[in-house]
Amino acid sequence: MFAPDDHLASMIFDYCRWRLALDPVSLDFPGEKEALDRALDGVLNPHGSDPADVLKLFADTLAPAVLSCDSPRFLAFIPAAPTKASLLFDMVVSCSSLQGSTWLESAGAVSAENQTLRLLADQAGMPASSGGCFVSGGSAGNLSALVVARDVGRHRLGAAAPSKLRIAVSDQAHSSIGKALHVIGMEALVVPAEDYRLTGPALEAALAADRDPTSVVGVAATGGTTNAGIIDDLAGVADVAQARQLWMHVDGAYGGAALFAPSVRHRFAGVERADSFVVDPHKWLYAPFDCAALIYRNPHLARGVHTQDASYLDFIHTDSPDEWNPSDYAYHLTRRARGLALWFSLAVTGTDAYRDAIESALRVARQAAEAISAKPHLDLLRQPELSVVLFRRRGWTEPHYNAWSQKLLADQIGFVTPTKWNGETVARFAFLHPETTVEIVEEILATME
Ligand SMILES: *Cc1c(COP(=O)(O)O)cnc(C)c1O
Repeated sequence: MFAPDDHLASMIFDYCRWRLALDPVSLDFPGEKEALDRALDGVLNPHGSDPADVLKLFADTLAPAVLSCDSPRFLAFIPAAPTKASLLFDMVVSCSSLQGSTWLESAGAVSAENQTLRLLADQAGMPASSGGCFVSGGSAGNLSALVVARDVGRHRLGAAAPSKLRIAVSDQAHSSIGKALHVIGMEALVVPAEDYRLTGPALEAALAADRDPTSVVGVAATGGTTNAGIIDDLAGVADVAQARQLWMHVDGAYGGAALFAPSVRHRFAGVERADSFVVDPHKWLYAPFDCAALIYRNPHLARGVHTQDASYLDFIHTDSPDEWNPSDYAYHLTRRARGLALWFSLAVTGTDAYRDAIESALRVARQAAEAISAKPHLDLLRQPELSVVLFRRRGWTEPHYNAWSQKLLADQIGFVTPTKWNGETVARFAFLHPETTVEIVEEILATME
């Protein structure tokens, strides 16, 4: 079972070659539990099964019951569109069992990951001292950053620290922020958004009106809300954070990729002042799952919080200034070198191709907004700031949107799910695939007449 197996390798590589060559990738379908359970019955047994049969089971039954988020017709939630180079290199990472937990074990991988983090930090304008690690997703990144915000705040307040510390957030922040605060025993000071945006003046007003403002040790701003692609007033938030010594976290899990896009870069002014910043390359930076970049302005603060102490780990911590243990910068220990697929892809395609792909998604969002505005039965709810477009089909209520969404998927025309906007059920497109065209958008809109 551990010996090289050429036959198995060929079979798997052939499948991968076939999947990589699909153009276009089909959307595929939601699964039916009974049929899936029936197909899986008995496949795990003491003797093992013929690999050809198991692969066939996967290819014919399991894979089609996984929606292809890399289809250019997948416009729900946040899609994905990993580059071929990144997917292929992800296989290298797997086949080489490349881990990236510690400098001692994986300096080669960590160096390339850090080079990639540096490139992302430069896009954000964060200083040379900044650094961090790749984690599994924006949720893990937000959690890890907010733990540092909490402990740094508690340390600053010293004996005066109240038992419950808080983080200021807007009511538009991603659900993972609220979840993270719950996990780490913090509470939210919810700042009312102004036109869906967390602004400096609104943050200052909320703190000024609060009975216990010293318990607020940080603020979590969003660089591109998931529901609507709205970027908070990062410069205004940074001013308040600086004046009040708050930790400033910027959640750019979805939108941070747009730092590469000259047409919208100005909307992120102030992000360079963040104490911590998260961007998900597995979303709009065309990397495979699961990959989020977590960058701290002062990584030594994160190291103080996240380093795990155990006698068998003493060996990884030395006095060398070169040492960089990704395990010291987030809530994790063992990790795969998940940043390497992005590193390889950036290296072989160059950053211009990323800029162009991101601009192309922004362009399709603007074209979709125009197409929606031109139709009498549709209302554009907001000019897109990034690549999310919200719109209404006049006269429709939630059941109409749900039935339409299901039929659209059954017909393999698109995967578009409704969302809520001001309490109303509305339609939502999220673009990032460079092969999503305005023709596909028109085809989908035509089904709403
Ligand atoms: C997607 C998203 C998250 C969560 O990221 P995961 O990678 O799904 O864990 C957090 N914040 C924002 C703004 C997001 O769009």
